Amino acid sequence: MEEKFLELKKRLSEVSAINSAAAVLSWDQQVNMPTGGAEDRAAAISVVEELSHAKFTADETGSLITACYGWAQGLGEDSFEASYLRAARRDYDIARKLPADFVGEFSRTTSAAIDAWGKARANSDFKAFSPRLRKILDLNLRKAQFLGYKDSPYDALLDLYEPGATKAGLEPVFKKLADGLKPLIKEINARAGAVSNDIIKGDFDEDAQFALTNEIVAALGYDFSRGRQDRSTHPFTTDFSVNDVRITTRTERDYLPASIYGSIHECGHALYGQGTPREFNFTPLAGGASLGVHESQSRFWENIVGRSLPFCRWLLPLLRKHFPGKFDKVNAEELYVAVNRSAPSMIRVEADEVNYNLHILLRFEIETALLEGRLKVEDAPEYWNAKMREFFGITPAKASEGILQDIHWSLGVIGYFPTYTLGNLISAQLAEKMAKDLPGWKELPEKGEFAPILGWLRKHIHSQGRKYLPGQLLQRELGEPVKVEPFLNYIKAKYSGIYGF
Ligand code: MG
Repeated sequence: MEEKFLELKKRLSEVSAINSAAAVLSWDQQVNMPTGGAEDRAAAISVVEELSHAKFTADETGSLITACYGWAQGLGEDSFEASYLRAARRDYDIARKLPADFVGEFSRTTSAAIDAWGKARANSDFKAFSPRLRKILDLNLRKAQFLGYKDSPYDALLDLYEPGATKAGLEPVFKKLADGLKPLIKEINARAGAVSNDIIKGDFDEDAQFALTNEIVAALGYDFSRGRQDRSTHPFTTDFSVNDVRITTRTERDYLPASIYGSIHECGHALYGQGTPREFNFTPLAGGASLGVHESQSRFWENIVGRSLPFCRWLLPLLRKHFPGKFDKVNAEELYVAVNRSAPSMIRVEADEVNYNLHILLRFEIETALLEGRLKVEDAPEYWNAKMREFFGITPAKASEGILQDIHWSLGVIGYFPTYTLGNLISAQLAEKMAKDLPGWKELPEKGEFAPILGWLRKHIHSQGRKYLPGQLLQRELGEPVKVEPFLNYIKAKYSGIYGF
């Protein structure tokens, strides 16, 4: 039996190697490639992806999984082999459920839709995009049928990004979160003038910003011998393997937080990747437990660490070093308040910690209603705007700052948005548990001592790779499922202090 397992391992490590090659092509596309190379690169990537898909979904893979499955489970639930087989079977079953002609149709529809979305957004013309959205919803319904579900087709899609999560499970969590956030937002908006972020706006040399962010992520524990940072339009992290995890950042000359917090966010993802055990390299156990758990790592470092007062005390001397003269008269408390300023925004990616989750809840409500046929595509923009008024008291003047702002739906991705909020909730749960195990950890960043924090995350989250479904991982390591209270307690304590209520 061990022989069959070795055969399976060899096969899947080859699949991982092909995926790694595709990731390099895609990283280069976003970081280095001249614009003229776009079409050829897209063709090259799709050929490499087809190779990987064909090898992975071949009958031989399935036979090897079936042959080893019982033997592996017999070695104990937590064993490498049992975990390996669970992850491999899950991926294989999903991949086999989608017929090749359907995958082709899905991919052709979305590549055209991305283009159409870009144009529709530029012209703020939702009507121009709506036929594409209808088609994408229809394809997603069919996808859900291929994958199978019990209650809502949304569950089948959500499960791709957050294994085990369901719409019915998320609804009460999200409602409790919204109920907790709305009064907080009212308190903050009533004191809108109390906090200024002028000190982090202005004119900041972009090469100096880049050098600063390299210094920050190295201090947090990002290993430059197994990764590198570059610049791209949209910051992202990509794992070529456990030993090469790349990040990118984006500098804005007149707004310093874009690069600092973009880098810290991606560094949080990358620390997860670099913290994956080497024996998981090129196996189905590499990568995060789910997108939500992955996002909990990026948000933990970006917000809970990076936007804390102790971190600002550590950061201020670095700002003075990289931007001589600019921060001489600023103190750490002023920096802390500036990087935490909260104000309603039309745009999700610009939203602060308080407002961000309501942007997600709005998208969750709309995409579930669209998919289940409770909301018509033509009525969606007005529904969106009504929710913006309800949540934030503001109304988008045009579709580009409303329903057309995100790329996700045009990519064919429905059921992804909730993972952002799950990440925020889990990050606060991790902070709470960390405080029990490592009392006083929140003060460590002031001295630049990040290693104990990273060590805790390595032990409880990173070292597990994809061994467990996210719900199982949280139960094992935190002793609880996803919860709203830790996040609400954290955000209320922080913002009542900053805004004085
Ligand atoms: Mg992220």
